[in-house]
Parts: sequence; C-alpha cells; structure tokens
Amino acid sequence: MKVLFRTLVCSFLILSCSDKETIPNVDLKSYSFDSETNSNLMFQDGEEMSTMTSEWRAYEISKVIRVKPIDNKTIEVANFAPIDFEDVTITASIKGFTKPIKLFKIAKIRAHGKQEIKYPFVDNSSLFLNTSNQEVDLSTFKESGIAPEDITFDFKGDSKVVQQLKGLTKLKWVIKYHDFDPENNPDNNWAEDITAKDIRRFSGLVINMGLVFASNDFKNEFINENIIGNDGTTSLTKSEKEAAYNLIINKTRYNCGKVVNVSGLGGGSTLGFAEHVLRDYIRKETGFITAHEIGHTIGYNHSSNMTYPHEVDGVSIGISPVTTRIMNQFFENGSYPVTPENYYLSSDIE
Ligand SMILES: [Zn+2]
Repeated sequence: MKVLFRTLVCSFLILSCSDKETIPNVDLKSYSFDSETNSNLMFQDGEEMSTMTSEWRAYEISKVIRVKPIDNKTIEVANFAPIDFEDVTITASIKGFTKPIKLFKIAKIRAHGKQEIKYPFVDNSSLFLNTSNQEVDLSTFKESGIAPEDITFDFKGDSKVVQQLKGLTKLKWVIKYHDFDPENNPDNNWAEDITAKDIRRFSGLVINMGLVFASNDFKNEFINENIIGNDGTTSLTKSEKEAAYNLIINKTRYNCGKVVNVSGLGGGSTLGFAEHVLRDYIRKETGFITAHEIGHTIGYNHSSNMTYPHEVDGVSIGISPVTTRIMNQFFENGSYPVTPENYYLSSDIE
C-alpha cells in the first residue's frame, strides 16, 4: 500500500510538472514553394525590366525571405536570395498583440521563388502560437483579414544558412535594382540595361557583402584602422570612425545598378558594380571595389582612404584593406551563405 501510494505521488508530480511545460497542440501550417506548380521565379531571363526594377521588388537586406501583404487576406512570400531555404518559420507582429506569432512554416522555398497565398487563418485553423509558445486565437481576422499597415513579418530557422542570414539583421539597407540608363546612352558609365542575370548575381553579392560589413570583425578592425578624412591628412578619431561605421550600417537604401568602363560607382543611395565584380564576388575577395563604393555612398572622396587606400610606411591602410582582410577570413572560414555550391544557376557564376 505504501509503495502504491509513493507511485501515485510520483506520477502526480510528473504529470503536474510536464503539464506546466506542455506546448499547446497547435498545428502550424506548412507550405512548399519549390516547384513550377507551387511557385514562380523572379529575375528570370525575359522578365520585364520594369517588373524587376519596380518598388514592389525592393526588399530589406535583413529579410531576404520576405512576406508582404497584397491585401487584407493575401500575402506574397518571396525569396530574394539566389539559394534555396528549408525549414523556415515565418513570424508576424500584429498590431495589438504583444509578441510575434508563428504564422506558418516553409518546408522549402527555392531560390528567387515567390508565391501568393491566403493567410493561413482564412481557410484553416485560427489557433496559433506566439514566440513564447502561448496559444493565440486569430479568429477575429477570419472575415476582415489584417490591414497591411498593421502587420510586419520576419523569418527564423535553425539551419546554418538561415543563422548566417541573421547576421544581416543590423543592416537597415533596402535593396532595389535599378536601370540607371533608361535612354540607353552608350556614352555614360552605366550599362544600357540591367539584365535578369545581373540582378540574380547582385542578389547574392549584397548578402555576402552585407555580412562582411555587419560583422563584428569588420567593425573592430575598422575602428582600429587609421582612417583619413576628406582633407587627405587628418585621421578620424575613434568616435568619428564609429560614426562612419554607423552610417554604413544605417544606410536606408541602395539602388543597385550595373556599370561599364569602370569597376564601380557609388554616391548617396547609388551603388553600381561592373560585370567582373558581379561575376567574381562568389569566389574572390572584391573588397578593393566594394568598400571603395560604399565609402563614396557615406560621403567620402578620393582624398580619403575611405575610397582608395593610403600607403603609410609601405603598408596599405583604409577601408578597402580592412574589407579585403575580412572577406578573406569569410572565405577561409566558410562563413558566406551564398557559395558556388548552393547558388541555383551554375551558368551565372561561370
Ligand atoms: Zn571612386
């Protein structure tokens, strides 16, 4: 009898204990956007340039897996990276709810894939979990939907590549692809047209390049570098270098185009790279060019080593040498998310 009693107490404790930690049984709807039947592809040869360079296609670098409301009940799910992703959870922050809600799963989305879907609560269960695994009832939105201005989205996942992408979170950059030569003037340094292939390549470049600038290693080395200002002689103080670094991180916009005759063009929100940069970034460090143009976009001229390096006692110093060093570390450590191995169109990287 005593033994039995002890068993009862034990099982009671176990029950109450596990009861506390149980996650409500809510079925998260899972989607795949990995084939011709369940998704379309962006930036394919033959797509209208006006579509590829439209504001609708502008995206935050921190959200290359982008969910965007089309209307109160319909959203577009799009992958702005040239690589596939698996096992991603989309979270939604909805006005009036304190915590983000786990809205749906993506079993797989192919590179540059996009698809329109109804919110999962429209035709399915209205029960969801928030990011603290508390049950949330969204039935109030079943009929009305959610006003686009009342919701924002993010993504998460445990895979290595999704974790790498999270390094981009601190960048404020909105990326838009741009035709800087609408008149097709052959006498300027812009390509007559930016092609789908240019954009596909650029979409990988901005991810890998963005991660370099967002990395702590870059920040630390940049702050320790002797950076010369626009007068060509005065070194920036530590706080001035921190301010310059923050200008890069907090750039709100890059209109990205293809240049000819030169390797790059940069200024304000304009960021252009040449064919060889768009082709080579995935295999070789291109910091000499990318950092130079980024330096221009935050207001530095050619007297400053925020563009061309300065030679001091036989050592090359400036933002470009720093960027080159960090890019090489990324290659050595396998830290880039976009690689020749996972890029989806081998003909783009030959
Ligand atoms: Zn320049």
